[in-house]
Amino acid sequence: MSNFLPFSRPTIDEATIAAVGEVLRSGWITSGPKVQEFEAKLSEYFGGRPVRTFNSGTCTMEIALRIAGIGSGDEVITTPISWVATANVIIEVGATPVFADIDPVTRNIDLDKVEAAITPKTRAIIPVYLAGKPVDMDRLYALAAKYKLRVIEDAAQAIGSTWKGKPIGSFGGSFGDFVSFSFQANKNITTSEGGCLVLNNAAEAALAEKYRLQGVTRSGWDGIEVDVLGGKYNMTDVAAAIGLGQFAQLDAITAQRRKLAQHYFATLGKDFEKQTGAQLPPEDYENTNWHLFQIVLPERITRADFMARMKERNIGIGYHYAPIHLFKLYRALGFREGMFPVAERVGRQIVSLPMFYAMNESDVERTCAAMREVLG
Ligand SMILES: *Cc1c(COP(=O)(O)O)cnc(C)c1O
Repeated sequence: MSNFLPFSRPTIDEATIAAVGEVLRSGWITSGPKVQEFEAKLSEYFGGRPVRTFNSGTCTMEIALRIAGIGSGDEVITTPISWVATANVIIEVGATPVFADIDPVTRNIDLDKVEAAITPKTRAIIPVYLAGKPVDMDRLYALAAKYKLRVIEDAAQAIGSTWKGKPIGSFGGSFGDFVSFSFQANKNITTSEGGCLVLNNAAEAALAEKYRLQGVTRSGWDGIEVDVLGGKYNMTDVAAAIGLGQFAQLDAITAQRRKLAQHYFATLGKDFEKQTGAQLPPEDYENTNWHLFQIVLPERITRADFMARMKERNIGIGYHYAPIHLFKLYRALGFREGMFPVAERVGRQIVSLPMFYAMNESDVERTCAAMREVLG
């Protein structure tokens, strides 16, 4: 019997483990020089834009909303197919979440539906790059400019993804506004938990620093001042040391994931969709970092059944994501079945196949063979 193949697993190399040990022995284990070094590396990667790190991708988006001054009475448009954090942060700052249905092919928010959902109260859009696949950035920012909306890109899954050859997060100016990344354990690079926000200017970066640490600013040579309500969201040097080690591997990680995706398509073959009724993701080796390899199952098999039968064959399957608007918290706000039919269908039948850096081509072949058995 072969070993269990999980759908995701982080790879931390020995150099990174040693670097973490050094931090732990140094006497300074909270935010310090490693955080600054990590932020400088990220800023360089994102074309010189200011970057600040945090202890999660969730608070990163919440802080972006606060910097944009979004709160009570404001509407923010997002997708129903994401981790629930994406919509929770809208409620957290006192604003109203508005959903727009997804595109059945990319599984990302449908920008035509976004435009239809805009009202005089709309202040921002939070697009999600599901599985690392960006939305059409030209259309997204044309829409934002037309209606004078802020954009908080939920790029939690999209580090290493690109648009027109440049990293997601690197545009600035007429392209790119707030861009939020997550370094949670399953993401393409990790700090165990953590996140970062790409900002537009020094004033926003100063505000981000306040919001992440109790609103404190230094004032005078020994004094502090507090003028906004901040929280406790700083990244530690322990986490930043993991992040620096992971960041050094980013290109190799993205290349390996693209290679594995290519091998999934090659192994499943051109007729897989016709033969099984399952739907593959768009074949994209240019923009997508292949954070996930997701298929939508045919209606004749339930997701639970598929997952159980793959597990019997020692293969772990992930589920990303249940439609947010059907959770109790959101039903209590008035959302119902039937409101976003594409999201509801895809959200019922979508599964994530094993995809991680340390995987090899025979793992892909094992997964495809098991899938052939289960789907007939
Ligand atoms: C992981 C993830 C988040 C949340 O990030 P955390 O670091 O876990 O807070 C938000 N949105 C999406 C799409 C994610 O994948």
